[in-house]
Amino acid sequence: MPRPIVAMVDLAALASNLTIVRRHAPQSRVWSVVKANGYGHGLSAVWQGLQQTDGFTLLDLNEAVVLRKKGWRGPILLLEGFFQPADLEEIDRYRLTTAVHSDWQIDALRRMTPRAPLDIYLKLNSGMNRLGFSDRALPGAWQALSELKQVATLTLMTHFAYADMPEGVEAQMAVVARAGDGLTGPRCLANSAATLWHPKTHGQWVRPGIILYGASPSGDWQDIAASGLRPVMTLESELIAVQSVPAGGRIGYGGRHRLSETQRVGVVACGYADGYPRHAPTGTPVWVDGVRTRTLGAVSMDMLMVDLQPCPQARIGAKVELWGDHVKIDEVAAAAGTLGYELMSALAPRVTVQLR
Ligand SMILES: *Cc1c(COP(=O)(O)O)cnc(C)c1O
Repeated sequence: MPRPIVAMVDLAALASNLTIVRRHAPQSRVWSVVKANGYGHGLSAVWQGLQQTDGFTLLDLNEAVVLRKKGWRGPILLLEGFFQPADLEEIDRYRLTTAVHSDWQIDALRRMTPRAPLDIYLKLNSGMNRLGFSDRALPGAWQALSELKQVATLTLMTHFAYADMPEGVEAQMAVVARAGDGLTGPRCLANSAATLWHPKTHGQWVRPGIILYGASPSGDWQDIAASGLRPVMTLESELIAVQSVPAGGRIGYGGRHRLSETQRVGVVACGYADGYPRHAPTGTPVWVDGVRTRTLGAVSMDMLMVDLQPCPQARIGAKVELWGDHVKIDEVAAAAGTLGYELMSALAPRVTVQLR
């Protein structure tokens, strides 16, 4: 028997989350962001759950080709554009839409001969200072691209750095307005946070990622608790041992947790080599045999320990939910000082994904 750990992926929840996205941005088309192997859920799993999307967007040319080979004929956007001029050959062959964020990419386009003109997303750096043309350089780049016979359509794209925070999108929207003044063409600006909380950013296309998977862009589950968004991934395992530990006993590596009374401790087949965060401290919530309890001591590579005091009935073989419907991935992430984004995308390849 394999280890009892499995990541259940709920395709109905994905489809339902997409419906909720559409309700928030009814005038916009939706690029479903499936980068990083569908935020760790598995590209082939998520593409099935998101059949009603208008397009898929990701980074890796190889993943784009996988989607084409699966039969997806709709739009596919490469969020970071191409990494070398030779990539344009496949972009052309597989009819991909590509971001353009640097001058060298415009030169590469100018030198190629596509079988048919390509759809281009021109990326504006509106304040994140990661990818894109400055507001001063953008009109020139737009002009240069619009004169190329290699270009079919031009869309203005930017990315928000703190749409989930009190600063919001105002400053970056002002840069978009200034740089895009007089440039007619579609806009694609909104990530998940902007899709949920800043309707004026919606434009012709929105680009939500994390909310499709049922986690919060802010890292706080409460921020989306009323939205109807549902967790897509449930990381499940089982108790593989139960220890009766006397008062004063110390739990796990480093002995960081010491018991004040004699109690039962459960051992779960899940560790940091499965993608569970090693930094999750004692007290991180976990669901054992239908009851919410907490982890005890340090997380090991392949196992972690849990407090069985709230669930005296739990035996070897009892079901454990590390995250899912009962314990939100945002709660585990917050306890470990990270975000749901990191936990889901770091799910280890050794964990089997099962569709539900
Ligand atoms: C990852 C990413 C998104 C989606 O972000 P979420 O916060 O997951 O919605 C959108 N646009 C770009 C450019 C990205 O890199």
